[in-house]
Amino acid sequence: MSYYAQPLGNLIDELSRLPGIGPKTAQRLAFHILKMPAERVVKLAESIKDAKKSITYCSICGNFTDKDPCSICQAPYRDKNTIMVVEEPKDIVAIEKTRDYKGLYHVLHGAISPLEGIGPDDIKIKELLARILPDVTEVILATNPNVEGEATAMYVAKLLRPLDVKVTRIAHGIPIGGDLEYADEVTLTKALEGRREI
Ligand code: ZN
Repeated sequence: MSYYAQPLGNLIDELSRLPGIGPKTAQRLAFHILKMPAERVVKLAESIKDAKKSITYCSICGNFTDKDPCSICQAPYRDKNTIMVVEEPKDIVAIEKTRDYKGLYHVLHGAISPLEGIGPDDIKIKELLARILPDVTEVILATNPNVEGEATAMYVAKLLRPLDVKVTRIAHGIPIGGDLEYADEVTLTKALEGRREI
């Protein structure tokens, strides 16, 4: 037997399918939504529907966009000689927030993970290789610093090696404000490997 009236139960059910939302959070959100003014609820529901309807993938880089190609691929001031390879569109947002990168991107939409049955053909590696034209001089591999991300970076680097392009990997290390004593060995090893002269 459910403790909730059915429409409320359905709402909690749908919310709890979202990543990072457990049953308790789903219940809290559902109760909050019921207390919101009706017009706010309509705005929320419509923004979800609109986003789903109008956002698609950029046919060049794979980023989320409402116009194809996306604004980054189209921007005349971006450096067309550099492509940064990331796993997900959200990684582009993280890099863009730094305002330090002016090149283009390529979203793989995942990482190679034999454990989860994700192989090289399941992510956008072929599409990346097709973009390595003579004017591309550097590919920055910015996949995540975990087992899958490292394996993917290695695999992509191997494929890029015969092509006439510089391949770099983002450095990993101690976070700013971090403490050496609390860093794990892998992080410390990567920090050492990525050391540079000052
Ligand atoms: Zn794009």
